[in-house]
Amino acid sequence: MRLSLKLSGVKPSATLAINAKTQEMKAAGKPVVSLAVGEPDFPTPGHIKDAAKAALDADFTRYTAVPGIPELRDAVGAYFGRFYGVTPPREAVIVTNGGKQALYNLFTALLNPGEEVLIPAPYWVSYPDMTILAGGLPVSVPTDAEDNFLVSVEALEKARTPGTRILVLNSPSNPTGGCYSKAQLDAIVEWAIARKVFVIADEIYDQLVYPPAERVSCVGWWEKHSENVAVVNGMAKSFAMTGWRVGYCVAHPGLIKAQSKIQGQATSNVCSFAQKGALAALTGGFDCVEKMRASFERRRDLAMEVVSRWPGVKCPTPGGAFYLFPDVSALYTKNIPDSAAMCGHILEKAQVALVPGAAFGDDRCIRLSYAVNDKTLLEGLSTVGKALKEIR
Ligand code: PLP
Repeated sequence: MRLSLKLSGVKPSATLAINAKTQEMKAAGKPVVSLAVGEPDFPTPGHIKDAAKAALDADFTRYTAVPGIPELRDAVGAYFGRFYGVTPPREAVIVTNGGKQALYNLFTALLNPGEEVLIPAPYWVSYPDMTILAGGLPVSVPTDAEDNFLVSVEALEKARTPGTRILVLNSPSNPTGGCYSKAQLDAIVEWAIARKVFVIADEIYDQLVYPPAERVSCVGWWEKHSENVAVVNGMAKSFAMTGWRVGYCVAHPGLIKAQSKIQGQATSNVCSFAQKGALAALTGGFDCVEKMRASFERRRDLAMEVVSRWPGVKCPTPGGAFYLFPDVSALYTKNIPDSAAMCGHILEKAQVALVPGAAFGDDRCIRLSYAVNDKTLLEGLSTVGKALKEIR
Protein backbone atom coordinates (compact mmCIF):
# COMPACT_ATOMS: atom_id res chain seq x y z
CA MET A 1 0.00 0.00 0.00
CA ARG A 2 1.48 3.35 -1.04
CA LEU A 3 1.06 5.98 1.70
CA SER A 4 2.15 9.57 2.19
CA LEU A 5 5.76 10.05 3.34
CA LYS A 6 4.36 12.37 6.00
CA LEU A 7 3.16 9.32 7.92
CA SER A 8 6.57 7.67 8.15
CA GLY A 9 7.51 9.34 11.45
CA VAL A 10 4.05 9.06 13.00
CA LYS A 11 3.40 6.37 15.62
CA PRO A 12 0.05 4.75 16.34
CA SER A 13 -1.34 5.53 19.80
CA ALA A 14 0.44 3.49 22.51
CA THR A 15 -2.66 3.48 24.68
CA LEU A 16 -4.63 1.83 21.90
CA ALA A 17 -2.02 -0.93 21.64
CA ILE A 18 -2.32 -1.62 25.39
CA ASN A 19 -6.12 -1.68 25.08
CA ALA A 20 -5.87 -4.25 22.26
CA LYS A 21 -3.65 -6.53 24.38
CA THR A 22 -6.01 -6.11 27.35
CA GLN A 23 -9.03 -7.05 25.21
CA GLU A 24 -7.14 -10.09 23.92
CA MET A 25 -6.42 -11.29 27.47
CA LYS A 26 -10.01 -10.64 28.55
CA ALA A 27 -11.28 -12.62 25.55
CA ALA A 28 -9.04 -15.48 26.69
CA GLY A 29 -10.88 -15.42 30.05
CA LYS A 30 -8.16 -13.61 32.07
CA PRO A 31 -9.51 -11.06 34.59
CA VAL A 32 -7.44 -8.06 33.47
CA VAL A 33 -7.74 -4.81 35.41
CA SER A 34 -7.06 -1.66 33.40
CA LEU A 35 -5.28 1.23 35.07
CA ALA A 36 -4.45 2.52 31.60
CA VAL A 37 -7.57 4.58 31.03
CA GLY A 38 -7.38 8.26 30.11
CA GLU A 39 -10.93 9.27 30.93
CA PRO A 40 -13.15 9.85 33.98
CA ASP A 41 -15.11 6.77 35.06
CA PHE A 42 -18.17 8.91 35.94
CA PRO A 43 -21.20 9.27 33.68
CA THR A 44 -21.83 12.67 32.07
CA PRO A 45 -23.99 14.71 34.52
CA GLY A 46 -27.74 14.44 33.91
CA HIS A 47 -28.50 18.08 33.08
CA ILE A 48 -25.94 17.98 30.25
CA LYS A 49 -27.45 14.82 28.76
CA ASP A 50 -30.94 16.34 29.12
CA ALA A 51 -29.89 19.44 27.18
CA ALA A 52 -28.53 17.31 24.31
CA LYS A 53 -31.71 15.18 24.31
CA ALA A 54 -33.87 18.32 24.24
CA ALA A 55 -31.82 19.65 21.32
CA LEU A 56 -32.42 16.43 19.39
CA ASP A 57 -36.13 16.56 20.15
CA ALA A 58 -36.22 20.15 18.94
CA ASP A 59 -34.57 18.99 15.69
CA PHE A 60 -31.39 20.93 16.35
CA THR A 61 -29.69 18.54 13.98
CA ARG A 62 -28.35 20.57 11.09
CA TYR A 63 -24.94 22.06 10.26
CA THR A 64 -23.95 24.88 12.57
CA ALA A 65 -21.36 27.59 11.97
CA VAL A 66 -17.90 25.98 11.69
CA PRO A 67 -16.41 27.71 14.79
CA GLY A 68 -19.43 26.79 16.91
CA ILE A 69 -22.85 28.12 17.87
CA PRO A 70 -22.52 31.75 19.04
CA GLU A 71 -23.96 31.10 22.50
CA LEU A 72 -21.41 28.35 23.17
CA ARG A 73 -18.52 30.56 22.01
CA ASP A 74 -19.80 33.21 24.43
CA ALA A 75 -20.12 30.62 27.21
CA VAL A 76 -16.49 29.63 26.67
CA GLY A 77 -15.53 33.28 27.04
CA ALA A 78 -17.61 33.50 30.22
CA TYR A 79 -15.92 30.35 31.58
CA PHE A 80 -12.54 32.07 31.46
CA GLY A 81 -14.11 35.19 32.98
CA ARG A 82 -15.54 33.18 35.85
CA PHE A 83 -12.37 31.29 36.77
CA TYR A 84 -9.57 33.54 35.55
CA GLY A 85 -11.00 37.06 35.29
CA VAL A 86 -10.47 37.43 31.51
CA THR A 87 -13.46 37.11 29.15
CA PRO A 88 -12.34 36.51 25.55
CA PRO A 89 -14.89 37.79 23.00
CA ARG A 90 -16.73 35.47 20.62
CA GLU A 91 -14.33 36.10 17.72
CA ALA A 92 -11.43 34.87 19.88
CA VAL A 93 -13.06 31.45 20.49
CA ILE A 94 -13.50 28.36 18.32
CA VAL A 95 -15.36 25.17 19.30
CA THR A 96 -13.51 22.06 18.12
CA ASN A 97 -13.91 18.28 17.98
CA GLY A 98 -12.23 17.77 21.32
CA GLY A 99 -9.18 19.57 22.61
CA LYS A 100 -7.36 17.32 20.18
CA GLN A 101 -8.68 19.11 17.09
CA ALA A 102 -7.87 22.51 18.60
CA LEU A 103 -4.25 21.36 18.98
CA TYR A 104 -4.18 19.88 15.48
CA ASN A 105 -5.64 23.11 14.05
CA LEU A 106 -3.01 25.18 15.86
CA PHE A 107 -0.01 23.16 14.71
CA THR A 108 -1.37 23.17 11.14
CA ALA A 109 -2.12 26.90 11.19
CA LEU A 110 1.20 27.97 12.74
CA LEU A 111 3.97 25.70 11.47
CA ASN A 112 6.05 25.98 8.33
CA PRO A 113 8.15 22.99 7.18
CA GLY A 114 10.99 22.17 9.59
CA GLU A 115 10.01 24.68 12.28
CA GLU A 116 10.67 23.37 15.77
CA VAL A 117 8.23 22.73 18.59
CA LEU A 118 9.59 22.57 22.15
CA ILE A 119 7.76 19.81 24.02
CA PRO A 120 8.68 19.32 27.69
CA ALA A 121 8.91 15.57 28.37
CA PRO A 122 7.13 13.56 29.66
CA TYR A 123 4.46 14.81 27.28
CA TRP A 124 1.00 13.86 26.12
CA VAL A 125 1.46 11.28 23.35
CA SER A 126 -0.06 13.29 20.50
CA TYR A 127 2.06 16.48 20.56
CA PRO A 128 5.08 15.09 18.66
CA ASP A 129 2.97 13.22 16.11
CA MET A 130 0.71 16.20 15.46
CA THR A 131 3.83 18.34 15.01
CA ILE A 132 5.18 15.90 12.43
CA LEU A 133 1.85 15.75 10.58
CA ALA A 134 1.91 19.54 10.38
CA GLY A 135 5.42 19.43 8.86
CA GLY A 136 7.21 20.59 12.01
CA LEU A 137 10.01 19.08 14.08
CA PRO A 138 9.28 17.99 17.66
CA VAL A 139 12.07 18.80 20.15
CA SER A 140 11.75 16.99 23.44
CA VAL A 141 12.97 18.89 26.54
CA PRO A 142 13.60 16.41 29.37
CA THR A 143 12.55 16.90 33.01
CA ASP A 144 12.99 14.76 36.15
CA ALA A 145 10.84 13.27 38.90
CA GLU A 146 12.91 15.31 41.42
CA ASP A 147 11.53 18.50 39.81
CA ASN A 148 7.96 17.15 39.70
CA PHE A 149 8.58 16.75 35.96
CA LEU A 150 8.30 20.52 35.46
CA VAL A 151 10.46 22.20 32.86
CA SER A 152 12.77 25.10 33.70
CA VAL A 153 13.56 28.22 31.69
CA GLU A 154 17.20 27.08 31.63
CA ALA A 155 16.30 23.75 29.99
CA LEU A 156 14.12 25.54 27.44
CA GLU A 157 16.86 28.04 26.64
CA LYS A 158 19.28 25.16 26.07
CA ALA A 159 16.85 23.53 23.62
CA ARG A 160 15.94 26.72 21.74
CA THR A 161 17.37 27.36 18.27
CA PRO A 162 16.69 30.03 15.63
CA GLY A 163 14.14 27.54 14.21
CA THR A 164 12.05 27.33 17.40
CA ARG A 165 8.46 28.38 16.66
CA ILE A 166 6.21 26.90 19.37
CA LEU A 167 6.37 25.85 23.04
CA VAL A 168 3.69 23.47 24.30
CA LEU A 169 2.78 23.80 27.99
CA ASN A 170 0.46 21.26 29.59
CA SER A 171 -0.62 21.93 33.18
CA PRO A 172 -1.91 19.84 34.90
CA SER A 173 0.05 17.33 32.88
CA ASN A 174 -0.86 14.07 31.27
CA PRO A 175 1.03 11.80 32.11
CA THR A 176 2.62 13.20 35.29
CA GLY A 177 -0.16 15.22 36.95
CA GLY A 178 2.49 17.93 37.46
CA CYS A 179 1.16 21.49 37.88
CA TYR A 180 3.03 24.75 37.42
CA SER A 181 2.50 27.47 40.00
CA LYS A 182 1.47 30.87 38.68
CA ALA A 183 4.99 32.17 39.27
CA GLN A 184 6.58 29.25 37.38
CA LEU A 185 4.16 29.60 34.49
CA ASP A 186 4.67 33.35 34.31
CA ALA A 187 8.46 32.97 34.16
CA ILE A 188 8.22 30.45 31.30
CA VAL A 189 5.66 32.39 29.25
CA GLU A 190 7.61 35.61 29.73
CA TRP A 191 10.72 33.83 28.46
CA ALA A 192 8.84 32.52 25.40
CA ILE A 193 7.19 35.82 24.50
CA ALA A 194 10.47 37.72 24.74
CA ARG A 195 11.89 35.29 22.17
CA LYS A 196 8.82 35.29 19.87
CA VAL A 197 8.16 31.63 20.65
CA PHE A 198 4.43 30.97 20.37
CA VAL A 199 2.90 29.38 23.51
CA ILE A 200 0.22 26.71 23.18
CA ALA A 201 -1.23 26.17 26.67
CA ASP A 202 -3.10 22.87 26.93
CA GLU A 203 -5.30 23.32 30.00
CA ILE A 204 -7.67 20.38 29.47
CA TYR A 205 -7.28 19.26 33.13
CA ASP A 206 -7.60 22.75 34.65
CA GLN A 207 -10.61 21.83 36.83
CA LEU A 208 -8.87 18.75 38.24
CA VAL A 209 -6.41 20.41 40.61
CA TYR A 210 -5.68 19.40 44.21
CA PRO A 211 -4.55 22.05 46.69
CA PRO A 212 -1.97 23.27 47.43
CA ALA A 213 -1.61 23.11 43.62
CA GLU A 214 -3.26 26.19 42.08
CA ARG A 215 -5.71 26.40 39.23
CA VAL A 216 -3.82 28.56 36.72
CA SER A 217 -4.37 29.59 33.11
CA CYS A 218 -2.44 31.35 30.37
CA VAL A 219 -5.54 33.30 29.34
CA GLY A 220 -4.17 36.40 31.09
CA TRP A 221 -1.07 36.12 28.90
CA TRP A 222 -3.31 35.67 25.87
CA GLU A 223 -5.08 38.93 26.76
CA LYS A 224 -1.76 40.81 26.86
CA HIS A 225 -0.03 39.03 23.95
CA SER A 226 -2.81 37.60 21.80
CA GLU A 227 -0.52 37.07 18.79
CA ASN A 228 1.79 34.88 20.85
CA VAL A 229 -0.45 32.71 23.03
CA ALA A 230 -3.34 30.28 22.49
CA VAL A 231 -5.23 28.39 25.20
CA VAL A 232 -6.78 24.96 24.59
CA ASN A 233 -9.37 23.35 26.83
CA GLY A 234 -12.45 21.17 26.50
CA MET A 235 -15.34 19.37 28.11
CA ALA A 236 -13.86 15.85 28.17
CA LYS A 237 -12.04 15.64 31.49
CA SER A 238 -13.83 18.25 33.65
CA PHE A 239 -17.37 17.18 32.79
CA ALA A 240 -16.82 13.47 32.02
CA MET A 241 -17.65 14.07 28.35
CA THR A 242 -14.83 12.30 26.50
CA GLY A 243 -17.11 10.73 23.86
CA TRP A 244 -18.97 13.94 23.09
CA ARG A 245 -15.97 15.44 21.31
CA VAL A 246 -16.28 19.06 22.34
CA GLY A 247 -13.19 21.16 22.92
CA TYR A 248 -12.32 24.79 22.40
CA CYS A 249 -9.52 27.23 21.85
CA VAL A 250 -8.96 30.89 22.73
CA ALA A 251 -6.63 32.65 20.31
CA HIS A 252 -6.12 35.83 18.30
CA PRO A 253 -9.17 36.36 16.00
CA GLY A 254 -6.87 35.98 12.97
CA LEU A 255 -5.73 32.60 14.26
CA ILE A 256 -9.34 31.60 15.00
CA LYS A 257 -10.18 32.39 11.35
CA ALA A 258 -7.25 30.26 10.20
CA GLN A 259 -8.42 27.40 12.42
CA SER A 260 -11.97 27.75 11.04
CA LYS A 261 -10.55 27.47 7.52
CA ILE A 262 -8.73 24.22 8.42
CA GLN A 263 -11.68 22.81 10.35
CA GLY A 264 -14.13 23.87 7.62
CA GLN A 265 -12.21 21.78 5.09
CA ALA A 266 -11.65 18.83 7.42
CA THR A 267 -14.63 18.22 9.69
CA SER A 268 -16.92 21.32 9.72
CA ASN A 269 -18.77 22.02 12.96
CA VAL A 270 -18.80 19.94 16.12
CA CYS A 271 -21.97 17.77 16.41
CA SER A 272 -24.89 20.22 16.82
CA PHE A 273 -26.59 18.66 19.85
CA ALA A 274 -23.25 17.93 21.57
CA GLN A 275 -22.66 21.69 21.43
CA LYS A 276 -25.99 22.20 23.22
CA GLY A 277 -24.86 19.75 25.90
CA ALA A 278 -21.59 21.65 26.30
CA LEU A 279 -23.53 24.90 26.58
CA ALA A 280 -25.61 23.44 29.44
CA ALA A 281 -22.39 22.28 31.11
CA LEU A 282 -20.61 25.63 30.93
CA THR A 283 -23.63 27.72 31.90
CA GLY A 284 -24.89 25.34 34.62
CA GLY A 285 -23.61 24.83 38.14
CA PHE A 286 -20.14 23.45 38.71
CA ASP A 287 -21.14 21.30 41.73
CA CYS A 288 -20.91 18.16 39.58
CA VAL A 289 -17.35 19.08 38.56
CA GLU A 290 -16.37 19.70 42.18
CA LYS A 291 -17.78 16.31 43.23
CA MET A 292 -15.71 14.51 40.59
CA ARG A 293 -12.64 16.60 41.44
CA ALA A 294 -12.97 15.69 45.13
CA SER A 295 -13.27 11.97 44.25
CA PHE A 296 -10.12 12.13 42.12
CA GLU A 297 -8.25 13.91 44.91
CA ARG A 298 -9.23 11.21 47.40
CA ARG A 299 -8.18 8.46 44.98
CA ARG A 300 -4.90 10.27 44.30
CA ASP A 301 -4.20 10.09 48.04
CA LEU A 302 -5.19 6.39 48.23
CA ALA A 303 -2.94 5.56 45.26
CA MET A 304 0.01 7.62 46.53
CA GLU A 305 -0.15 5.89 49.90
CA VAL A 306 0.44 2.55 48.18
CA VAL A 307 2.89 3.64 45.46
CA SER A 308 5.10 5.64 47.83
CA ARG A 309 5.77 2.38 49.71
CA TRP A 310 7.07 0.54 46.63
CA PRO A 311 10.81 0.07 47.21
CA GLY A 312 13.11 1.72 44.67
CA VAL A 313 10.27 3.64 43.01
CA LYS A 314 10.22 7.46 42.81
CA CYS A 315 6.84 9.12 42.37
CA PRO A 316 6.22 12.81 43.02
CA THR A 317 2.75 13.60 44.37
CA PRO A 318 0.78 14.97 41.43
CA GLY A 319 -1.14 18.21 41.88
CA GLY A 320 -3.77 17.49 39.23
CA ALA A 321 -5.31 15.30 36.49
CA PHE A 322 -5.81 11.59 37.33
CA TYR A 323 -2.48 9.90 36.70
CA LEU A 324 0.62 8.80 38.62
CA PHE A 325 3.89 8.53 36.72
CA PRO A 326 6.29 6.54 38.91
CA ASP A 327 9.94 6.21 37.91
CA VAL A 328 10.57 2.45 38.11
CA SER A 329 13.93 2.44 36.33
CA ALA A 330 15.81 1.34 39.48
CA LEU A 331 14.00 -2.01 39.11
CA TYR A 332 15.06 -2.59 35.49
CA THR A 333 16.98 -5.82 34.84
CA LYS A 334 18.47 -7.62 31.84
CA ASN A 335 15.07 -9.17 31.13
CA ILE A 336 13.09 -6.04 31.97
CA PRO A 337 15.26 -3.31 30.47
CA ASP A 338 12.62 -0.67 29.70
CA SER A 339 9.11 0.63 30.35
CA ALA A 340 7.46 -1.53 27.67
CA ALA A 341 9.00 -4.69 29.15
CA MET A 342 7.98 -3.52 32.63
CA CYS A 343 4.35 -3.04 31.54
CA GLY A 344 4.51 -6.45 29.81
CA HIS A 345 5.78 -8.03 33.06
CA ILE A 346 3.04 -6.34 35.11
CA LEU A 347 0.33 -7.35 32.63
CA GLU A 348 1.56 -10.94 32.69
CA LYS A 349 2.13 -11.30 36.46
CA ALA A 350 -0.48 -8.96 37.93
CA GLN A 351 -2.93 -8.86 35.03
CA VAL A 352 -3.01 -5.09 35.34
CA ALA A 353 -2.73 -2.93 32.21
CA LEU A 354 -0.55 0.20 32.47
CA VAL A 355 1.02 2.42 29.80
CA PRO A 356 4.82 2.41 29.20
CA GLY A 357 6.46 5.77 29.90
CA ALA A 358 8.30 5.53 26.55
CA ALA A 359 5.03 6.51 24.85
CA PHE A 360 5.23 9.80 26.76
CA GLY A 361 8.92 10.37 26.06
CA ASP A 362 10.29 8.98 29.35
CA ASP A 363 11.37 5.34 29.36
CA ARG A 364 12.16 5.38 33.09
CA CYS A 365 8.50 5.54 34.06
CA ILE A 366 5.11 3.87 33.76
CA ARG A 367 1.74 5.65 33.75
CA LEU A 368 -1.14 4.52 35.88
CA SER A 369 -4.57 6.11 35.96
CA TYR A 370 -6.67 6.39 39.11
CA ALA A 371 -9.88 7.14 37.18
CA VAL A 372 -11.35 3.86 38.44
CA ASN A 373 -13.32 2.90 41.56
CA ASP A 374 -11.54 2.46 44.91
CA LYS A 375 -11.75 -1.34 44.94
CA THR A 376 -10.28 -1.71 41.44
CA LEU A 377 -7.61 0.84 42.23
CA LEU A 378 -6.48 -0.74 45.50
CA GLU A 379 -6.61 -4.33 44.26
CA GLY A 380 -4.83 -3.36 41.05
CA LEU A 381 -2.06 -1.50 42.87
CA SER A 382 -1.61 -4.28 45.40
CA THR A 383 -1.01 -6.87 42.67
CA VAL A 384 1.30 -4.47 40.78
CA GLY A 385 3.31 -4.04 44.01
CA LYS A 386 3.67 -7.82 44.30
CA ALA A 387 4.76 -8.12 40.65
CA LEU A 388 7.42 -5.44 41.25
CA LYS A 389 8.75 -7.28 44.33
CA GLU A 390 9.08 -10.47 42.28
CA ILE A 391 11.58 -8.77 39.99
CA ARG A 392 14.29 -8.60 42.65
N1 PLP B 1 -4.59 17.19 25.96
C1 PLP B 1 -4.27 16.29 26.89
C2 PLP B 1 -3.13 16.56 27.79
C3 PLP B 1 -5.00 15.10 27.01
O1 PLP B 1 -4.69 14.20 27.94
C4 PLP B 1 -6.07 14.87 26.10
C5 PLP B 1 -6.84 13.61 26.16
O2 PLP B 1 -6.41 12.60 26.66
C6 PLP B 1 -6.38 15.87 25.18
C7 PLP B 1 -5.62 17.01 25.12
C8 PLP B 1 -7.51 15.73 24.19
O3 PLP B 1 -8.74 15.71 24.79
P1 PLP B 1 -10.09 15.64 23.95
O4 PLP B 1 -10.74 14.36 24.35
O5 PLP B 1 -10.86 16.86 24.37
O6 PLP B 1 -9.74 15.67 22.51
